[in-house]
Amino acid sequence: MSKQKINKLIIGTKNMGKLREIKNLLPKNIKTYSTSAFNLRSPIENGKTFKENSLIKSKYFSKKTGLICLADDSGLEIDFLDKNPGIYSARWGGRHGDFGKAIERVYRELKKKDKNWKNKKIRARFICALSISFLNKKIACVLGKVEGYISDKPKGRNGFGYDPIFIPLNQVKTFGEMKPSQKHKIDHRYQAFRKIKKFL
Ligand code: IMP
Repeated sequence: MSKQKINKLIIGTKNMGKLREIKNLLPKNIKTYSTSAFNLRSPIENGKTFKENSLIKSKYFSKKTGLICLADDSGLEIDFLDKNPGIYSARWGGRHGDFGKAIERVYRELKKKDKNWKNKKIRARFICALSISFLNKKIACVLGKVEGYISDKPKGRNGFGYDPIFIPLNQVKTFGEMKPSQKHKIDHRYQAFRKIKKFL
């Protein structure tokens, strides 16, 4: 499929924040649709990696709509917790996606591993897999990352999810303290987008 043919895309996410972010990164000539415009539920994400889960979503939404689909899967890997929550990042927030609960769980698990964890540098990274599929066929699938550390307490109210506890490498503020424009210049979604742009 030639890249000029992509003038319509469905974006495979129900998260309004992500939808807006992805739309802002796309060339303006591409008309975008959200999954809610088609009244679609999300598929079961039973992949073992971010890439697998992203492809499950892009293939599913493309098959359901007949449109090319761009979908993402993202999360936070903490090395000291054996790379958890990883692909379970959304699930650590419980059934209602309570991000406060997810952050509490991170601190609980770190304390379980080592009571003195606050004296250590807890290395972590946000990962984003972006994929483009048409029906059952993968057009592209890429991975973007931003490396950093876990803050010893939540800071800032911007963003969503684990933003208040993540400090990117060579920065002092958490993503939660940064202006959205500052975060979006360096984050995992932006890094993934840079790689997938050439397929659009
Ligand atoms: P997904 O919707 O299955 O990709 O789940 C992604 C989950 O990872 C979200 O619910 C957040 O908990 C977390 N996450 C992904 N990207 C970010 C980010 O940019 N900031 C904070 N948390 C994020």
